[in-house]
Amino acid sequence: MAALVLMSSHAGAQETATPVVSIASLEAVTVEAPMVSARALESVASVCKRISDKLASVAYQECVELQLQYSGHRSVEDIPLLIKEYPPLGRRQPQARILLVGGTHGDELAAISIVFKWMQTLEKHHSGLFHWRINPLMNPDGALRNKHSRTNANGVDLNRNFATPDSGVDAALEYWRVKTKQRARRYPGPFPLSEPETTWLFQEIRDFKPDVIIAVHAPYSLVDYDAPDRRNAPRKLGHLYKNLMGTYPGSLGNYAGVHLGVPVVTLELPHAGIMPTNSQINRLWTDLVRWLVRNT
Ligand SMILES: [Zn+2]
Repeated sequence: MAALVLMSSHAGAQETATPVVSIASLEAVTVEAPMVSARALESVASVCKRISDKLASVAYQECVELQLQYSGHRSVEDIPLLIKEYPPLGRRQPQARILLVGGTHGDELAAISIVFKWMQTLEKHHSGLFHWRINPLMNPDGALRNKHSRTNANGVDLNRNFATPDSGVDAALEYWRVKTKQRARRYPGPFPLSEPETTWLFQEIRDFKPDVIIAVHAPYSLVDYDAPDRRNAPRKLGHLYKNLMGTYPGSLGNYAGVHLGVPVVTLELPHAGIMPTNSQINRLWTDLVRWLVRNT
């Protein structure tokens, strides 16, 4: 049975809580960020509190026990952007580095919750096969405000705020003016990487050097793929089927997949506010890992 993502009943949060994996030390996850405003010092635990208050599918304790780390970057409204790393284990050389990002659009709550579910899977089963870096919530300002929004606190669509080096610096703005009739939901920002959230992702790609980027969205119910060679696109992941969309100026797929040549797998869940079933969540994950094994 599908579970609503919207909430805010803690009873709902309890239903999907998963077993404790490790004891979290709140001291260990306290954000250390001198010379910034008081809000920037918001601890990882308090971000978890806000996430669990918003998302029925993410329990507070479950979030805290993941021991997410402060990335060193904050949103426009000074909420820490959080990272979980599943590093190489022992002497096993990981097959590839995978960057997984949820919640680029703040109103796609299922795209945040499902990344938390997959982190729970990795907590139990990370074997060192891949080196993962995961940000479950790239746009906390949009997601965590009372009336959640697609855009960040500056009203910018973060998936249109990347550079389009081959098309000129104003390609995204021009596209927005001409093709989208200046829809506020798709405003690309005044210039590429004008936003701290996209600056984080830009630096993450530069420094981590992922072999594949996975971005989770909703609600178009499909798998998209941006890469120099799109023939490797996943035909089907779980209940989602391949449906290759165009690439938009300023999008992550355009920037990383086309310009940098780092394949971007975009999962569009069927509903922004309703979680897939547990079996669908698990099937999406196993199909995704299977595709990564064959294509990295
Ligand atoms: Zn989206």
